[in-house]
Amino acid sequence: METVTFRSGAYVPLEMHKARIVQRVNLEPVERRRDAMAEAGFNTFLLKNREVFLDMLTDSGVNAMSIEQQAAMLRADDSYAGSETFFRLEQALQDFFGTRFFLPTHQGRAAENVLANTFVSPGSVALMNFHFTTTKALITLLGGSVLELVSEAGLEIESDLAFKGDFDLTRLDAEIARLGPEKISFVRVEAGTNLIGGQPVSMANMRAVAARCKEAGILSVLDASLLADNLYFIKTREAECAERALVDITRELGQLFDVIYFSARKLGCVRGGGIVTNDEELYRRMRGFVPLFEGFLTYGGMSVREMEALAVGIQETLDFDVISQTPIFVRALTEELTSLGVPVVTPAGGLGCHLNAFKFLEHIPQDEYPAGALAAAVFIAGGIRGMERGTLSEQRNPDGSEQLAEMELVRLAFPKRVFTLSHVKYIADRVSWLFENRALVGGLRFVEEPETLRFFFGRLVPVNDWPDRLVAAFRRDFGDSL
Ligand SMILES: *Cc1c(COP(=O)(O)O)cnc(C)c1O
Repeated sequence: METVTFRSGAYVPLEMHKARIVQRVNLEPVERRRDAMAEAGFNTFLLKNREVFLDMLTDSGVNAMSIEQQAAMLRADDSYAGSETFFRLEQALQDFFGTRFFLPTHQGRAAENVLANTFVSPGSVALMNFHFTTTKALITLLGGSVLELVSEAGLEIESDLAFKGDFDLTRLDAEIARLGPEKISFVRVEAGTNLIGGQPVSMANMRAVAARCKEAGILSVLDASLLADNLYFIKTREAECAERALVDITRELGQLFDVIYFSARKLGCVRGGGIVTNDEELYRRMRGFVPLFEGFLTYGGMSVREMEALAVGIQETLDFDVISQTPIFVRALTEELTSLGVPVVTPAGGLGCHLNAFKFLEHIPQDEYPAGALAAAVFIAGGIRGMERGTLSEQRNPDGSEQLAEMELVRLAFPKRVFTLSHVKYIADRVSWLFENRALVGGLRFVEEPETLRFFFGRLVPVNDWPDRLVAAFRRDFGDSL
């Protein structure tokens, strides 16, 4: 099913599109990169884009649109209520998931906010394969809690398991029995899983989870934000689905889950979000929050232009060549780094390539944020902006102690259709250089630590002068090169 193979046997991620509009990027000298990192409080979220060469922070809202999406934006019907644009988007989602009702929101977390306000009560527990930062924060804000039930293999960094995002069904059964359905706000499947390396969930597992929910009378929810990559893995790794049409798979999902929500900043390559369901009663319960938090029911905080582009982007998600682009680039970088001995999450998932900071920076204790330090060092080494996904992204426990993360990862996200093979080669070169010089890198400590979502705005400093030593080593090895 891979589109093209090469005679040499080399793995080449071949773009099935061509560039029609480009953006100039800038690569600053290493000294400037160090200073920019310091000015940003060693937090890659606080860097200015003009200092960044390859922005691999996220795939959220930074994917390349197709010419068809751009063209569709021109015909947007701007109206507070009842615009044609809304009905076109509603129809596109009905065609995609086979669900009847659609609530637009301005992005994925806004959909989560509607869900949490509708279904989470104080003391309730949401079961999920793995949490996402905003999901957990919103649920805990409303007095609920989150319980993670990902399969044990999901937390193994190096593995050859095809579906590391799968639920541990035995634990799910046990928790449903222990808590009882009344205490469970909902069961949420995140396909694929963001924080554990973009690892996919199998169709078989989603069916099993949904069936248990139905049997126990528990609400089942699918977070479909990363569904495009997950669909690619279902098609390529799950034998039973190899011959199935993609639309057949998405419509089965629409039947399996009571509620599906998504970030359209990822799914559909625009800036928006939404919730779909087949259940009129659930639709009515959620509906009231949309005008309150988002905007009227026919736009939900999205611009009509983005809605038109989303209607097209959703359709394009059913094109195998389109959805293959991120996974093949993630795989190319993962294989290149593996061959250079750099520790990464395997097998390659969706979303991005994930560096294993635990192993990369073994000498940095977890409360000095090895993944945060690595994200900063990768930026200094190459102007490459990744995202810390480890202890820094956790929230402290109520007693003030660190909630040490199960994984310390640096994610190098691949926005869809943005980067090329030469970028992959460059990243592999700089990151493998950094790995050889890893002893130079030290930890970080907070100087400004917000209570919630500290990874977004927190400011840190290095524990010693390691950034200067890293810059000196770079000049020694690369001479005048950028
Ligand atoms: C990005 C993401 C969200 C939140 O979406 P936003 O549009 O960024 O608010 C929720 N769930 C998952 C799995 C995501 O990857």
